[in-house]
Amino acid sequence: LPGDAQIDSIPREVLHACYTQVLPSAEVENPELVVWSDSVADLLDLDPKEFERPDFPIKFSGTSPLAGAVPYAQCYGGHQFGTWAGQLGDGRVITLGEILNSKLERWELQLKGAGKTPYSRFADGLAVLRSSIREFLCSEAMHFLGIPTTRALCLVTTGKFVTRDMFYDGNPKEEPGAIVCRVAQSFLRFGSFQIHASRGEEDLGIVCALADYAIRHHFPHIENISKSESLSFSTGDDDQSVVDLTSNKYAAWIVEIAERTASLVARWQGVGFTHGVLNTDNMSILGLTIDYGPFGFLDAFDPSYTPNTTDLPGRRYCFANQPDICLWNITQFASSLMAAHLISDKEANYAMERYGTKFMDEYQAIMSQKLGLQKYNKQLLNKLLNNLAVDKVDYTNFFRSLSNIKADPGIPEGQLLVPLKAVLLDIGKERKEAWTSWVQFYIKELVASGISDEERKASMDSVNPKYVLRNYLCQSAIDAAELGDFGEVRRLLKVMERPYDDQPGMEKYARLPPAWAYRPERKRIL
Ligand code: AMP
Ligand code: MG
Ligand code: MG
Repeated sequence: LPGDAQIDSIPREVLHACYTQVLPSAEVENPELVVWSDSVADLLDLDPKEFERPDFPIKFSGTSPLAGAVPYAQCYGGHQFGTWAGQLGDGRVITLGEILNSKLERWELQLKGAGKTPYSRFADGLAVLRSSIREFLCSEAMHFLGIPTTRALCLVTTGKFVTRDMFYDGNPKEEPGAIVCRVAQSFLRFGSFQIHASRGEEDLGIVCALADYAIRHHFPHIENISKSESLSFSTGDDDQSVVDLTSNKYAAWIVEIAERTASLVARWQGVGFTHGVLNTDNMSILGLTIDYGPFGFLDAFDPSYTPNTTDLPGRRYCFANQPDICLWNITQFASSLMAAHLISDKEANYAMERYGTKFMDEYQAIMSQKLGLQKYNKQLLNKLLNNLAVDKVDYTNFFRSLSNIKADPGIPEGQLLVPLKAVLLDIGKERKEAWTSWVQFYIKELVASGISDEERKASMDSVNPKYVLRNYLCQSAIDAAELGDFGEVRRLLKVMERPYDDQPGMEKYARLPPAWAYRPERKRIL
């Protein structure tokens, strides 16, 4: 693939190239390894003893190179908040190289916060401890929730301070610097293709070469699509238009990306994860959650919740918009493939249609599992979501408690809400009626399903996490870490590695946010 002829890190437009060779250059003084993931080490066939080596933090702060590695930063572009932003690229991320493990899986290792690259624009190429802890913990938490994500091997502090205007109040603050080693099979994004398509005829060949590369390495099952198998898929349009996915590997490819994305978003909705910055440069072609910035897990259920303060007042990236926004992003990606003549408009439309179908299928399946029901019941779910929103009920704890309800139609009306007592706080008389009526409806459905209470509880508890990485938990760990105590970050990692287990003694990690962590718009109900 075309690389940049100019090897340096001067910020600039990098034309006709997919990447630039660049060495990590963050200033480092006494780098320290403060937290690491044994599970990611295992993926890489890395002996956990390696974490104890004195040169480990030196290598994973980018201070000394890994043998045989040719570090580089990727060129990509993207739509930010719905507007084409041109070249973005790895502004503070440097890929060290790839590892082929004993299972012949290819894993790419990157350092985030390793210094300037040609893609740094006006920024410093660095990362602070606060955001690095959030990325490290959340990528591992998401993985253990069963949600596709980039991973994090380790977090190293640089021993240097970084200036940040954290509260946008014009008062810059010095924060400790840190570097996270991110790991994924590929960090290619929609924007990796968009950038070259945006540069006109001359660079359309790069879109094609990059697509071929991505398919060869990451979608090998569609690389040799044979024309002879010629299966046809109806798009269901009135004009009976048919898209043949076996005659164009790029069409099969975008359909698979669309479906992986749909399935990813359905899982986000299931656990109440809000990404916060769903720009097209943050959309993985592997359907991974990528780029942990101002993400947030829902506590009080609120479909319009956005964790991103720059997303106000439009709330483009709020919880309820995620499915539509990701479709919009796929549309942009499809346009780039169309511009490069890799797919037709019909094939693009078909991929979008498959996104919609896949999302609805997966979402309905996930929400039904969360309710312990085998069949999707739209009315039951809608009434529930409405109740949750009206009373701002904690999303995670509500679903976790729901498995305590028994499929017994004989429970006296006055006791129906007892199993939910801990999650339905401060509910007035009128709201009690709404909830009682919902629980009655729910019990009716449970009875009809015929599953035993024990069996249902076990299956519900395996999809409704007890522990999610609530913002306040993360913040408490960050506060301690900024004072030099990393115990809480490590404990939080351990808890988040088993989100569906009860974990006696760890109940405090399942608590509602304390008063200080409540969002301003919720203050009135405290
Ligand atoms: P994001 O909003 O995190 O997806 O980032 C958008 C773009 O800004 C990407 O190209 C990032 O690499 C770049 N970027 C973010 N923070 C920094 C930083 N501190 N230094 C250089 N580039 C950055
Ligand atoms: Mg990004
Ligand atoms: Mg980011």
